[in-house]
Amino acid sequence: MSCHRPEAASPAQHAASGLDHNPFARMQPRAPAPTPQALKNGARVKANDVLPQGVYLPNYNVLTPHMRSPEYVQMSTAAAITLGIMKGRMYRCECTRCLNLLLTYPEGCRANCAYCGLARHREAERDYADRNFIRVDWPAVPLDATIDIVARDGAASPFHRMCISMITHPRSDADAVTVLKKWTDRIDPGTIPVSILSNPTTMARADVKRLHELGADIFTVALDAATPGIFDRTRGKGVQSPHSWAKYWEILMDAREIFGPQKFGAHIIVGMGETEHDVLALVQKLVDLGGHSHMFCFFPERGSLMDHLPATPRDQWRRVQLARYLIDYRGVRVEQMSFDGEGRVTGFGIPQNELDDVIGAGIAFRTSGCPGKFREDVSACDRPYGDSPPSNIASFPFQPNRRDIGKIRRQLRVVERKN
Ligand code: SF4
Repeated sequence: MSCHRPEAASPAQHAASGLDHNPFARMQPRAPAPTPQALKNGARVKANDVLPQGVYLPNYNVLTPHMRSPEYVQMSTAAAITLGIMKGRMYRCECTRCLNLLLTYPEGCRANCAYCGLARHREAERDYADRNFIRVDWPAVPLDATIDIVARDGAASPFHRMCISMITHPRSDADAVTVLKKWTDRIDPGTIPVSILSNPTTMARADVKRLHELGADIFTVALDAATPGIFDRTRGKGVQSPHSWAKYWEILMDAREIFGPQKFGAHIIVGMGETEHDVLALVQKLVDLGGHSHMFCFFPERGSLMDHLPATPRDQWRRVQLARYLIDYRGVRVEQMSFDGEGRVTGFGIPQNELDDVIGAGIAFRTSGCPGKFREDVSACDRPYGDSPPSNIASFPFQPNRRDIGKIRRQLRVVERKN
């Protein structure tokens, strides 16, 4: 008979054999290059003014049509395949359970976040609707046609949740409301609940309240950065971007009051220069406030201001994933965990046999986000390969099997001991 007893090696031990985390000094974004005046604000698309005809699949060899929300929205490649408007198959995934509807305008997002493929500094290089975002293309689809398909499928829809993803644009607040109204007119939010991925920079408390009154279920704020310093460097003054940590927290606290416990959360990208302790202290703070954290593993998005930087090493990511799951769903507190001098997790605060069970169950390593219909700790938002290639999965968009768990244990540097 064999049993598995995980035994964590000290991070300091394997640090000696190579860098096992992304330190702050290394994760400096490039400065954005200036955009020629003639190419600013979607000028090329507006000048060509090509009439959109149905679904637009990103293709930078043809003229990008002039598409705008609320008539048009973009959706992930995974959502387009699931909806049946794009052909394709996904590695080990039948479908995605979350329909992300991203607002779209020729002017694009007016922010310049360093890790993001949609950022403004790409204006000269690529039209907004053609930009890659979380590693994939985002087809543009008429909103009404999208709603028709989901309404026709009714309770049999593969989607467990819809998420309106706002961007930094003067129309974004009003159009998020229109998309939500059009959706709830045809689709019962009890059948497919709606999340809002907000854009705090353009929002006031009244906007949060309106979205709640109109039937949105969960409100999230993409803090993305785990500390104010990283926030400023990657999405604020450091890259000529308009966001501020204080404004993001103001809207997050509004969402806490308006949406209530378990109905608000924050996105955090792991591996942009914070310590593991920094990110887990933030996870704990969110839990103490009554909310959740949704984690992303930093990946150098092609065309972004951080595309020259390393993806988060898998051992750093796995430690944070595991610790975050314990804090979010197992009642473990960050104060029970132990950390080394560089803030890396050295102990998870629970007995080894319990830790082994959690690792073995695999849920901690699945994509995190707003829940679907399977269980509270399994996210509808599975974002297939949004933060890694399929060859070295960071967030599992499916239940990891025994082989996957074996790989995760090796990445966590826990050894399987046979008795
Ligand atoms: S606000 Fe959001 S969409 Fe816009 S650049 Fe930043 S991360 Fe990207």
